[in-house]
Amino acid sequence: MVSLIVSKTNSLFSCGDVPLPSREKAHQQKTDKVFVLDASAVYNGIHTFNVEGLKFVPECVLGEVRGMFLGEAFVEEALLYDELKISMPEEKFLAKVKGAAKETGDVQELSDCDIAVLSLALQLLHQVKKVVIITDDYDIQNLAKHLGIPYRGVHWKGISHKRIYKWVCSGCGFESKVKLKNCPECGTEMTRTFQRQKIRRNG
Ligand SMILES: [Zn+2]
Repeated sequence: MVSLIVSKTNSLFSCGDVPLPSREKAHQQKTDKVFVLDASAVYNGIHTFNVEGLKFVPECVLGEVRGMFLGEAFVEEALLYDELKISMPEEKFLAKVKGAAKETGDVQELSDCDIAVLSLALQLLHQVKKVVIITDDYDIQNLAKHLGIPYRGVHWKGISHKRIYKWVCSGCGFESKVKLKNCPECGTEMTRTFQRQKIRRNG
């Protein structure tokens, strides 16, 4: 199933010499669905036993949850049970996601780590097929929808509409798909708006 080369950074969240309780490890379970988590999923307290299956994060997520109690507890437990894989996406998937983010207008709202989360999920979608992103970040959810990657909110809610953003000038009506502070035609400040389109709930 999962054929990614991953490196576990056990040294970051050392668990010491704790004996493993007799719980089945994720890769021994029947499910072959895998999950990609962003920082919001990790620090909002997703528990390993609520999400059955291997969980992937890009390395930047570990940095974002450091110092947060629930986040560190999750990482520690998931590593202990061998349920967490830390991996960075390949360049071609990063490029695909960045291209899609420009199309939808999400690109200005997404951090490099958000892009990494989406790219890792897109890569896994090609490699293992059954992938779900867990995130409460609306912009990640929106772009996941555009990319055809299933996603869920931390509390198992997703968005019911997708948004295509644009920036509009209130002075002359000029529209742009990329973020502009001021209108190139008349200089008025641009406002972000979006078209709303109902979608079937995902996952
Ligand atoms: Zn204008």
